[in-house]
Amino acid sequence: RMQHCADTLLFKKSGEKLKLFQAYFCKVRLCPMCNWRRSLKIAFYNKQIVETANQRENLRWVFLTLTVRNVEGSELKMTMDSMTKAWNNFSRYAAFKKSVRGYFRAMEVTKNREENHQWNGTYHPHFHVLLAVKPSFFTSGYIKQSEWTSMWRKAMKLDYDPIVHVQRVKPKKESPDFKEVEHDVKKAVEEQNAILEVSKYPVKDSDVIIGDSVTSDNVETILDLDNALAYKRLIAYGGLLKEVHKELNLNDTDDEDLIHIGQENADEIANGAIEVMAYWHVGLKNYVISN
Ligand SMILES: [Zn+2]
Repeated sequence: RMQHCADTLLFKKSGEKLKLFQAYFCKVRLCPMCNWRRSLKIAFYNKQIVETANQRENLRWVFLTLTVRNVEGSELKMTMDSMTKAWNNFSRYAAFKKSVRGYFRAMEVTKNREENHQWNGTYHPHFHVLLAVKPSFFTSGYIKQSEWTSMWRKAMKLDYDPIVHVQRVKPKKESPDFKEVEHDVKKAVEEQNAILEVSKYPVKDSDVIIGDSVTSDNVETILDLDNALAYKRLIAYGGLLKEVHKELNLNDTDDEDLIHIGQENADEIANGAIEVMAYWHVGLKNYVISN
């Protein structure tokens, strides 16, 4: 299914710029090419959504990670389903609704490959969530890490405390110089980092295949993940961010157009008289340009 992904690319040339105009993308969930395109697209969307939301309301941003215990491949799909259902309850709890104005939620699955580790070979599905909260969140409506944990435990109906991380979105280094940077610039930088972090698509290819041989482990991982990720809604927007997403008329990333990523100037593309074709050369392991 992935063999012919992006093997021919048609660009329109306008001035010195090449714009991708036509291509076939396989859209397989595990395809590294398609995941790269999806991540670019989601990051671009989220940047616009966060900027628009900030213009509209005074917001703070919180980065939340919700996990469950590792599961075997055979339980992965079921676990991901229950996480998605649990999220719907979780986001309706009074404490959540009181402080959270909107969210972007992304499912990620990693595989444990630590030899001699008790979880070796198991999968770790988890949610990365970017929360837009009211400024009062940090004074009156604050939800402590232990409270997030018990809320997630309750929503997931678990008999153990799941690991939950919560972090205010702020710059990685708080240097003295940084304090002098204007407030909104600083805010933009913080948000950029969080947006990029949360926009990565669900599986890193380095997590799928180890080496380049057909080992039983590689085959098993591909089958497990391909099965679990089929037809899943892996990302979702809620509240204010969902409204903004809709207003900006952004395509749904799940029925994906992977050709057009950023803001396109339709005229520029239409008027780009020169077409440039690039096709993948298997032997050269690179694209070859033909005019
Ligand atoms: Zn692909």
